[in-house]
Amino acid sequence: MMKGLSVMTPTTRKMMQVLNSCKATLFCVLVTILVLRSTAMVSDHHIGDIEGTTEWAHVGQNRHGRKLAQADEVNISEKPDPVTASKFVEEEKWDPSTPYTLGPKISNWDQQRVIWNNLNPGKNKTRNGKPKILLVSGSQPGPCANPMGDFYHLKFVKNRLDYARLHGLEFFYNMATFSKEMTSFWAKLPLLRKLMVSHPEVEWIWWMDSDAIFTDMAFEMPMEKYEGKNLVVHGFHNLLFEQHRWIGLNTGIFLIRNCQWSLDLLDAWAPFGPEGETRVNAGKMLTAKLVERPTFEADDQSALVYLMLFDDPKWKLKTHIEWEFYLHGYWKYLVYRYEELMAKSHPGFGDERWPFVTHFVGCKPCQLSVTPEVDECFLQMERAFNFADNQVLEKYGYAHRALASFKTQRIRKDTADPLGLLEERKPKPEDATASLNFQEKEFLRNKELAEQEAINQRT
Ligand code: UDP
Ligand code: MN
Repeated sequence: MMKGLSVMTPTTRKMMQVLNSCKATLFCVLVTILVLRSTAMVSDHHIGDIEGTTEWAHVGQNRHGRKLAQADEVNISEKPDPVTASKFVEEEKWDPSTPYTLGPKISNWDQQRVIWNNLNPGKNKTRNGKPKILLVSGSQPGPCANPMGDFYHLKFVKNRLDYARLHGLEFFYNMATFSKEMTSFWAKLPLLRKLMVSHPEVEWIWWMDSDAIFTDMAFEMPMEKYEGKNLVVHGFHNLLFEQHRWIGLNTGIFLIRNCQWSLDLLDAWAPFGPEGETRVNAGKMLTAKLVERPTFEADDQSALVYLMLFDDPKWKLKTHIEWEFYLHGYWKYLVYRYEELMAKSHPGFGDERWPFVTHFVGCKPCQLSVTPEVDECFLQMERAFNFADNQVLEKYGYAHRALASFKTQRIRKDTADPLGLLEERKPKPEDATASLNFQEKEFLRNKELAEQEAINQRT
């Protein structure tokens, strides 16, 4: 029962005052929470509206990424416009009781290519008259759960663009899903087939995982070595053919010729890959057959090792196992030696003196949880990128301040003679004998010595 203040004892009055001030505080807290919540909702909305603007992008990426993924799940943003919808064809449904196929069987691709290339003369050669090579890479269609993953995808794409520009390669980067069954590391198979049949002018397709980076920008593939071969993949003969190890070769980076043999290989390779029961069961079989393979679902690498060892001998016959340079180089063996290599060596070798490719196998840059391992991967990816980028920036007179730094510094002063042409026209006294042969130089040197001797005698 409520009592008037006048009848209260001093203690009760004090208690009531405390209670009242608590109520006021509680009210203030509630109002604050409500205001903050509505502000957050407005910001969230804005992140969606002004997606890509610099001041918001880094704040909202994670949340926005999740939003995109949700939209995809509930089909909010998937409602196609009528023009696009009118182009859709029915997707072929795969019956899991039959082996998975990548598409209708093609059996005369070599003849088809010859006919097409005769009808389109000159299309199958680069500007330097060499057979065309298409460098291909790709990553998942949606945003990375960790925005740093996308940052490194971008940097690694820049590295491929540089390499392709410097060596006259064509370049294709894929972020589309071509088959719902062939997810993750299996996505490259339907992609490679599509590229082969859509680019009859291309002789070689060069697959490179998104987590691999060129670290020797000067090294060029010795293509003449691979005449008569249809697949070039990094590996070791003894590990593969004698020890049957699942790491006997690495499918993160390989070159595959655009020909019937390769389409047949993809056909033999693909049935291991469909997501779900098929992939899980194939994984069990591969673990049983291959040495030291952990228990996990079928991966494209183990499946290729299996085909090389136990399937048709024609696969091994036309495959070149490359070990003389790092077509694939495991990052943990390479990244801690970059400074030593810079002090001792120079680009152009591609082997342990200057590795061609550094591959961040096992790093999961896209995953949400940032473990110490992922942090180490990011640091080493930055270092690998800058190690390669220094070779690109050299031409422009810049270098990264340190391998771990994205900041750059001048290594040459700008001049008014950037091409060195003016300097070249000036007579160079030290170069006066440059065109003479050894005997002529010796003659001049002896003459000078004799003259000097004569002067000495006179004085
Ligand atoms: N990938 C792709 N599309 C996807 C997911 C993955 O093209 O939707 C590619 C990507 O290039 C990636 C490779 O498949 O590098 C998967 O292999 P990962 O590099 O993760 O395996 P690891 O080299 O670590 O064994
Ligand atoms: Mn990889």
